Amino acid sequence: MDLHLEMSDSEARIHARVSLTMRGEAFRFALASPLKIESARCGGRELPLPEGGDYRMPPLPTELRAYTFAGHPGAELEFEYSGALSGPLLYYRREVRHFSLYNCWYPVAFDAEAEPVDVTLPDGGEWELVQGERDAERGLWRYTTRGRTIKDCNILLLRRGEWTRLESGGVSVLYCEPSRAAAAAEEAVRQCSEIRAFYRSLYGHDGELRDLTLVYLPEGPGKAAYMRDGLVVLTIIPDDFRHLLAHELGHAHACRADFGSWEDWLNEAGAEWSALLYEREVDPEGFEQRLEVLLKIAGWRSLRLRPEDGSHPDDVHETGVLLFAKICEKYGPDAVRRILLSLDSLGRQDTAGLLAELRRRGDKELAREIEAHIDV
Ligand SMILES: [Zn+2]
Repeated sequence: MDLHLEMSDSEARIHARVSLTMRGEAFRFALASPLKIESARCGGRELPLPEGGDYRMPPLPTELRAYTFAGHPGAELEFEYSGALSGPLLYYRREVRHFSLYNCWYPVAFDAEAEPVDVTLPDGGEWELVQGERDAERGLWRYTTRGRTIKDCNILLLRRGEWTRLESGGVSVLYCEPSRAAAAAEEAVRQCSEIRAFYRSLYGHDGELRDLTLVYLPEGPGKAAYMRDGLVVLTIIPDDFRHLLAHELGHAHACRADFGSWEDWLNEAGAEWSALLYEREVDPEGFEQRLEVLLKIAGWRSLRLRPEDGSHPDDVHETGVLLFAKICEKYGPDAVRRILLSLDSLGRQDTAGLLAELRRRGDKELAREIEAHIDV
């Protein structure tokens, strides 16, 4: 789906032009209620403007309208909409413009969910689009959901000249309110280099160069910290910040498994247990407490890694973490370290490869423990 976005200079209003090739007889999607469809064409023919019906997408508080365009597979569908942005964590001010899935500013849900989105927006030189790509020739910023675990058109525009950037070892921290965020930004950069040094000693190398960007938004419409691939957006400075950073940086060694399938458990269990081993190093007591909590949950939850159809289960992140907690309890933390090293040594990370590598290294029992949770 191609989406060209234009923004009003003075108020939080947008205009969007969408085009896509239809896969079925209809294209159904939802948009935030204040956005109104202005025109639609399918296969070059004008379409009547759809009425739309009220729709909610819990837990998002945003009020939506659901629309359907009829057509046929292979037909080119184009439509335009405009209106005011709404919903939580919306920033539209001098230093920053930020809107995302929370604001349902682009087609979401139903058929739109399966469509990767390629966004373009005009680049007048005054903004920097975080995780965007600049097309200087055409005077555009580009943003795509392709290749992202979380398929969010996360628009985060920072006004040039208003932001301070601290950089160290693949981590960039950006802030615009020095009195509030400068100390935390320095702390984040320091912690990142300590975490990286630990991972270098654990894994023996630097891992994939996975750049991490942290953005401290100014105090604003809500309190939140959220993560997108390689991006952490904060309006507060969370208590568990060290762990959050350690998890994200842990992905440098666990990010090569297919994140669209059940194999994603390797990415998340790998990153989270890298972080937990770091906690064990710097705060052994805290680590024991975390382990205890995980073991309690592992006691009552099913630890099935692969659903029957091999799809991506909602709890895929947690299941592997809990399984490794049980392995840690039974065989000790070094057993988990050996699993992480085996995982890290694989070019393409998948469960079959991990099991084979563990067996090759003589860890047959650990391979059996994991295997027992693939189909249970
Ligand atoms: Zn993760």
